[in-house]
Amino acid sequence: MVNLIFVGPQGSGKGTQAKIIAKKLGITHISTGDLLRASTGKLRKLADSYIHKGELVPSKVMIEILKQRLEKSDCKEGFILDGFPRTIEQAEDLEKITKIDLILEIDISDGTAVKRLQGRWNCKKCNIAYNIVTCPKPKKLDVCDVCGAKLYQREDDANEDAIKKRLKIYHEDTEPMLKKYPFVKINGEQSIEKITKDILKEIGKLKKP
Ligand code: AMP
Repeated sequence: MVNLIFVGPQGSGKGTQAKIIAKKLGITHISTGDLLRASTGKLRKLADSYIHKGELVPSKVMIEILKQRLEKSDCKEGFILDGFPRTIEQAEDLEKITKIDLILEIDISDGTAVKRLQGRWNCKKCNIAYNIVTCPKPKKLDVCDVCGAKLYQREDDANEDAIKKRLKIYHEDTEPMLKKYPFVKINGEQSIEKITKDILKEIGKLKKP
């Protein structure tokens, strides 16, 4: 069992890597952004009012959602948190409910982040993220290679102000959190395969129970 946190600016590829590593290790990938986007009713309305502006959803709401998710049986063998914690407050709340084995930061420049976010297209059905600027590019511009569904661009990726705000929050709120907790930095400006290799190497260094 291994509990991991993947941190990184938007567009760092942490979601892509979390999916790959979770599959390889047989553990569960939990993206708090995906949990919010999959929510309905009042919660969805509340979440959207923050997400569209590129702002953080209140931590009290986030920790409650995460707590409920971590109680599910598929988390017993381990999990990767993608997008949580994003602030010192969230990290402190998380410490109270679970134990974390390793924090990995996938590091990219702001320039790369903006370029990648503007090229990001997603499949609503398979939740696959494509990138028309970098890779993986879909074979057809707006169609999912796997299921043929139409790809869409997230509203907060299409909005340049929201991108800038999200990066600002990353530097101002998430990076200070990394100063408080030991973490390993991974160069996110490499090929997807090389980043996966680097991450697996770090996980391999963890002491077996
Ligand atoms: P992501 O998919 O990780 O880029 O998250 C998309 C948006 O969901 C963020 O810009 C926030 O508005 C919200 N969100 C996701 N995770 C968190 C979190 N841990 N705390 C607060 N807001 C979050």
